[in-house]
Amino acid sequence: MKVFKFGGASVKDADSVKNVAAILTKFQKEKLLVVVSAMGKTTNALEKVVNDFFYQKGNAHQALDEVRNFHITIMEALFENKQHAVFGEVQQIFDSTAQILNTKPEGSFGFYYDSIVSAGELVSTKIVSAHLNESGINNSWLDVRTVLKTDSTYREGKVDWMQSSALAHDIVMPLLKGENSIVLTQGFIGCDSENHTTTLGREGSDYSAAIFAYLLDAEEMYIWKDVPGVLNADPKFYSDAQKLDQISYHDAIELAYYGASVIHPKTIKPLENKNIPLYVKSFLKPDASGTVVRTGVQTKPLIPSFIFKNNQVLISISAKDFSFIAEDNLAKIFELFASSGVKINLMQNSAISFSVCMDMDEFKIPPLTEALKQDFKVLYNTGVMLCTIRHYYQNTIDTLTAGKEILLEQRSRNTAQLVIRDIKK
Ligand code: ASP
Ligand code: MG
Repeated sequence: MKVFKFGGASVKDADSVKNVAAILTKFQKEKLLVVVSAMGKTTNALEKVVNDFFYQKGNAHQALDEVRNFHITIMEALFENKQHAVFGEVQQIFDSTAQILNTKPEGSFGFYYDSIVSAGELVSTKIVSAHLNESGINNSWLDVRTVLKTDSTYREGKVDWMQSSALAHDIVMPLLKGENSIVLTQGFIGCDSENHTTTLGREGSDYSAAIFAYLLDAEEMYIWKDVPGVLNADPKFYSDAQKLDQISYHDAIELAYYGASVIHPKTIKPLENKNIPLYVKSFLKPDASGTVVRTGVQTKPLIPSFIFKNNQVLISISAKDFSFIAEDNLAKIFELFASSGVKINLMQNSAISFSVCMDMDEFKIPPLTEALKQDFKVLYNTGVMLCTIRHYYQNTIDTLTAGKEILLEQRSRNTAQLVIRDIKK
């Protein structure tokens, strides 16, 4: 069997949903588990609903109605029969979400976040599943929460592999047994032991697909995207971006870890453990070759890959008395980073200072620097860029940094990382 994942961009409107059907027609003979995300930018829109509700600042009901109407418009374009059961099913999901909004927020933000935002995946899969069935692509809709069990870390649920594996065997395997069997389910969401909905972290549907590939011993996994495959750089930053035809698992993990947005970082490991190849292909050109990530291959072409992160802050922390930054100081510094939930993108230690590069987050960084300043001297540069180059050459670095100031540089055999900014005129 194979696992497919269709992201938000591949189901952003009625025509895109029809395109998904066209792709699946080519695989009618296969046993497939198809993971689908929320439609278009629905997750962002539902995040607004949660914020409006939890912080009681905007009109959450109105924000939810916008999401509801967006889906109704898509359904109206897809289903001629306005009595089709899918209309009622989708309305019901929105109605139960609206009921949450009628309560007073009491629990944690994350709890409400997961209960509300998950509606995006539920309605999306209801619509896609119904459309496929209408188009002769028979499939069973699966509520992923009956299978994918997590702990109660809301917004970042940790998978309970044992329990999910048992449930996948009991529930999903039989659905795949018949002929022409397609199971369609949600990405991104799961369920804890109390039967509360959880989510796996933003962009988590790739990870959901990889979890299923692992649990079901898939022979292959496919991610269908709006790009031809994995490129060696984001074309937004780099006009010469080139497609990589094949990537080793190791390179894929490194690229995802350093922030290549095309693959969710947690996706590769479960696939690697069971040696399942991952194909990244274009849903616009489904017959084109795309990229394959697999074991036992060299990345091809073996060219430098770039990951650019804009809007970084570089801070340099030193002791007020100029004592060395050693274990005791570092322990204190890391504790502050951990408690403020700030992720470190790059760090470097010298005798008297410790430098850290991280994403600018206007809610997290100012309180963190204030806390650090109690005990340390803190200098910082905002608006800098972090560039990671995998398989670099010296001339790649020279070209990239021409006309730029290098504030920090770190190299290992295969990866170079540079914090750079434009030279001030
Ligand atoms: N819909 C979720 C998000 O936008 C999960 C996903 O698309 O992977 O983050
Ligand atoms: Mg997405």
